[in-house]
Amino acid sequence: MLHSINRKKVVILKDCIFCKIVRGEIPSYTVYEDDVVKAFLDISQGTPGHTLLIPKKHISNIFEYDEELASEVFARIPKVARAIKASNPDIKGMNIVNNNGQIAYQSVFHSHFHLVPRYTTHDDFAMIFKDNSNKYTADDLKKVQQSIVDHMGD
Ligand code: AMP
Ligand code: ZN
Repeated sequence: MLHSINRKKVVILKDCIFCKIVRGEIPSYTVYEDDVVKAFLDISQGTPGHTLLIPKKHISNIFEYDEELASEVFARIPKVARAIKASNPDIKGMNIVNNNGQIAYQSVFHSHFHLVPRYTTHDDFAMIFKDNSNKYTADDLKKVQQSIVDHMGD
């Protein structure tokens, strides 16, 4: 069993496009790198300067982080965000986006954070949060709250 899990993991690491970038097997426009993370330009350049920050360790999504890796990875985001912002005076703000699962638009299954500089209200990035607040009573919200709290763990 352990053997087959390890083999699956090896196959993932071998085929994963971002692991290949970490290993230098395919090129990237790297803007920051240390022992924990690598940050490089997203090839799509949704807006100019669109950057991905990834842990060098292969994990698929947010659900797989332990606290230590999360604190190490998240701690590096503001530094990269500030450098991107400082690189262009037209950058007015930034969306930081992390997609988890195909349903949530994840297409590369090595965890990554999109740093998307924002220039104008009509640049090439948009996000829609529908307001459904009129469909929830206070009781409904308490039930949702409780069920999340019940699963919080340590
Ligand atoms: P997501 O859809 O959230 O999984 O984001 C994956 C992102 O990876 C997309 O925005 C792609 O443009 C980007 N991407 C895929 N391959 C590469 C690559 N070789 N170099 C840089 N970015 C890439
Ligand atoms: Zn990977």
